[in-house]
Formats: sequence, C-alpha cells, structure tokens
Amino acid sequence: ERQLSSRLAVLKPSVTLVISQLARRLAAEGRDIINMSSGELDFDTPTHIQDGAIAAMRSGQTRYTDVGGTPALKAAIIEKFKRDNQLDYSPRQIIASTGAKQIIFNAFLATLDIGDEVILNAPYWVSYPEMIRLTGAEPVAIVPAANQGFKLTPATLAAVLTAKTRWLLLNSPGNPSGALYSAEELRALAEVLKDYPRVLVMSDDIYEHIVYEGKFASFASAVPQMADRTLTINGVSKTYAMTGWRLGFAAGPEWLISALAILQSQSTSCPNAIAQAAAIAALTGPQDLLAEWCARLRTRRDSALAILRQCPALQVDTPPAAFYLFVGCEKLLGKRTTAGKILNSDLDVAEYFLEHAGVAVVPGSAFGMAPYFRLAYSIADDDVNRACQLMVNACEALL
Ligand code: PLP
Repeated sequence: ERQLSSRLAVLKPSVTLVISQLARRLAAEGRDIINMSSGELDFDTPTHIQDGAIAAMRSGQTRYTDVGGTPALKAAIIEKFKRDNQLDYSPRQIIASTGAKQIIFNAFLATLDIGDEVILNAPYWVSYPEMIRLTGAEPVAIVPAANQGFKLTPATLAAVLTAKTRWLLLNSPGNPSGALYSAEELRALAEVLKDYPRVLVMSDDIYEHIVYEGKFASFASAVPQMADRTLTINGVSKTYAMTGWRLGFAAGPEWLISALAILQSQSTSCPNAIAQAAAIAALTGPQDLLAEWCARLRTRRDSALAILRQCPALQVDTPPAAFYLFVGCEKLLGKRTTAGKILNSDLDVAEYFLEHAGVAVVPGSAFGMAPYFRLAYSIADDDVNRACQLMVNACEALL
C-alpha cells in the first residue's frame, strides 16, 4: 500500500536536503550557523508592495480570479515586458502562476512525451532535471569546459541536438553560475536551432535585474524571429524580494499559454489573489530600488571574492550577475580534517564547512558539476564577510 508511482520513483532526493538537515541539527544544538545555502534575498519586501497586498485584502480581492491571473496583473506584466525587454504581448500570451517554478514544471508537463529530450547547461538549477524526468522525458545536461564562463557554446549545442530534442533551456543570469549571455551569444545559439523547427526555447530570466557587469538580454528580444517558439519565464521572487509570495509569470505563444492555463485550471487554479495584487504594485511601482539593491549585492560579492581568494585552494571567477558564487574546490579533495576525515567529494567539503566553520553551502554535484560549492551572498554584509573568513580558516586548518 506504500508503493509510489513509477513516475515518482525516478525523482532523486535532493542533495541539498542533507546539508539543510545537518544545518538545522547543529543550530538546534545551539551552534551559530550562517546559512549561505538559500536562493533568496535577505531584504524585506518593500512597503509599497506590502501595501498593495493589504489594500487588496481590505477591498475584498480575496476570491478566485481568472486562472492565468487578473486582467490588471496581465496588463502590468505586458507593460513590464515592454519596458524591460522591448517585447510586445497580448493578454492571451501571458500567464501568472504560483511561482516561476510552477510554470516551468507545467510547460514541461504540457509538451514533453516519453523519450523527448531537453538540453540544459550545467551547472543548472537543481529542479530542472527532476521536473523533466517526472514527465518521462530525458534531461541532456552539457558540462561546459572550465574556461568558457559556464556557458553553452553553439558548437556544443550543435553536437547534442537530435530529432528527440524538444526544448533548449537557457537560464541567464544563471543559478548557480551567475553566467550572463550577451544578445550576440543568444543569436549564435539561435542560429544552430534553425534546422530544428520542433525545438522550443525556455528562457528563464528570473535573475534579470541582478546584473553587475554586462547587459541582460532576453532570448525572445535578442532573436525576434524565434519569439513564437520561446517561453519567457520571469517572476517577482528574486527581483522584489518576494520569494514567499509565490508569484511567477511567463509570456509565449498562445497555444502553449492556453495549454498551461488548462493544466493550471485542473490542478491549482489561479495564483494567490493577494500575491497578484502585490505583484501589480511591484511591477508598476518605483523601480529605482532595484539598482540600489544591486549595488549592495555587488559590494557583498566583491568582499566575498576578496576573502575567498586569500585561499589558494579555492578557485572562483567573478560572476557578472545573480547572487551566487560557484566555487571550485578540487584542491581540497584528498585533504584530511583535524578530526581525521578525508574529503573525497564536494559533499564532504560542504559537510566540513558546516561542521567546522558553521557555514552552510550547497555542493556543486547538486547542480550537475563537481567538485564545486555554491554560496549565496544575499545575506547581511557582516555575515557574508564572517562566513567567508570562517571558510578560509577552515581550509587552512586542513592537513
Ligand atoms: N528559476 C531559477 C533559475 C531559480 O533559481 C528559481 C528559484 O530558486 C526559480 C526559477 C523559481 O522561482 P519562483 O520563486 O518564482 O518559483
């Protein structure tokens, strides 16, 4: 009676779970743990956005809405795509859901059959391959050469495209790499797709507004002739410090958006009505706070880099975007801790940092690339500095 479906049996348990469980246990024992494993900003949701939600509650906007979002929210999303990405959409090309995560999963569920393939680039966001596997399709993960900034090149893309390829999944700025594709790089990838009319492009732009060097380009605006086979994913989580509100949105061809709406109508219905109102306040309100936040994050990034680079065993390039560092730790493997344990993998390294330094990071193997670890520097300035110094000290304590 406890047997799970064959579909669920392919789901891999999350590597990050091991670390977060250990972190919770140590914290419960009274240890001071700095958590750099979480993919969210430490800033509060701005007051004008909170006010939008409160006003919605007070005025009775507490019922089901249209499945894909209220007309007012869709209008705000359309305006956002015009303002930020020079993309023109009609309301029927827009959907809002319970986080970008729901849209990504529903898009795979709506389009993938057993045997289909989705091309993605390692290091990738942990949820992508598992979502793809749940549909019966296969993730085809490309591990890029070390010197190409964690980016997919046209040559590697050409080598893995097959008749079974259904999606190319792009995530720029990338989690966990912080990689950013230029418009030219996106056009070069699109050139390779010309001979594969069945391939759709998912452009996960969720970190769009966290860019320090270079210029963000959305695939559909860089390659307008591909817009009718591109699903552009975005949301308010990372941009406006609204991860807990659960509101994401997407734009794409009508046939796909209406399929997503049908799926949503039979599973979760509309996204939270109050979060929709908050998202309108976020998208139509003042945007200058984004540059302010970016400047603060950049200071954190730079001080984290400066501290970590004191340790010759850690290898880290300067990521131009997002709020993560993806740090190579190959030179730590084979070393022995003072407790006598040999570090054999990046999971061992992450466990060591947690136990010895009190810092929680995520092993690179969770993102399909080892030996690395990911840290999020989207925590208080002092904690960033303290955590990085503790990790450097922990490296130096190895034998
Ligand atoms: N895409 C990427 C690359 C992410 O890192 C995340 C969140 O961690 C998401 C999508 C999901 O965001 P949301 O909170 O909108 O579901």
